[in-house]
Amino acid sequence: MLRYQEPLFRPPSEARSLILQATLGCSHNKCTFCYMYKAKKFQIRPWKELYQEIVEAGREYPYMKRVFLADGDPLVLETSYLLRILEALYQHIPALERVSIYATPQNLLEKSPQELRLLRERGLHLIYLGIESGDDQVLAETKKGVNAKEMVEACRKALDAGFVLSTMVILGLGGARRWKEHIMNTAKVVNRIGPHYLAALTLMVFPGTILHRQVREDEFPMPTMRQIMEEMALLVELVEVETVFRSNHVSNLLPIKGTLPRGREKVLAQIEAAIPLTPDTPLPTEYQGAF
Ligand code: SF4
Repeated sequence: MLRYQEPLFRPPSEARSLILQATLGCSHNKCTFCYMYKAKKFQIRPWKELYQEIVEAGREYPYMKRVFLADGDPLVLETSYLLRILEALYQHIPALERVSIYATPQNLLEKSPQELRLLRERGLHLIYLGIESGDDQVLAETKKGVNAKEMVEACRKALDAGFVLSTMVILGLGGARRWKEHIMNTAKVVNRIGPHYLAALTLMVFPGTILHRQVREDEFPMPTMRQIMEEMALLVELVEVETVFRSNHVSNLLPIKGTLPRGREKVLAQIEAAIPLTPDTPLPTEYQGAF
């Protein structure tokens, strides 16, 4: 039995994967909106412990085709350590076909193209990364740790190394004041990256985050629900690269899926039909629990 150190997060599309916590927490852990790893101190799991878990996983789940490496950014690990993990996973889980991972742009910027290619060749297949915004001001204010240019550079490195790239952006992250710049610059960054997948999440404000305090102290004017829908429509209108677009996260007001730009008209029609029905009242700000 794998012993997880909660809280544990994984992308919705990894629901049927075996999750392995190669690290605990997030090495950055500074984003003002993020509550995920506030209670965890970043740690690298020692090899002995990790290897034992991989051997046990192989015994209990030899049929597993997918493994997802958690927590927040295990790509921060030394390349040699990641290669050891990949080797052990493919050796002990006979049915294994692909390994996916959460990463920050900083993790990608710190690795050389050769290191990334080697990881790809040894079976690391898909990277999930939060772009959040393509607007320099929003990125700086939310303490993401990189600017838009660095975000593009990091994501391009992943694509050039042959990874499948699944990205997330957050509707509402510019608040009521900067929503247009947030979305227009996010679309620009997405168009320069060309990710395989693009998920639009909706801003959630959790107690214990800096953003929660900023909202309470009126430093961050919350977007309205209708504004969120308008942001999504603008994003869909502006994305020119081919990408699978989703807004089916638990945070989203309207579940949408489609391929852009081919399916743009259909996706836009759904959003536009929903806009007049969406209340023009602020998004809720009190999410008490994780999901
Ligand atoms: S990098 Fe990701 S996991 Fe880490 S604090 Fe920022 S949003 Fe949260």
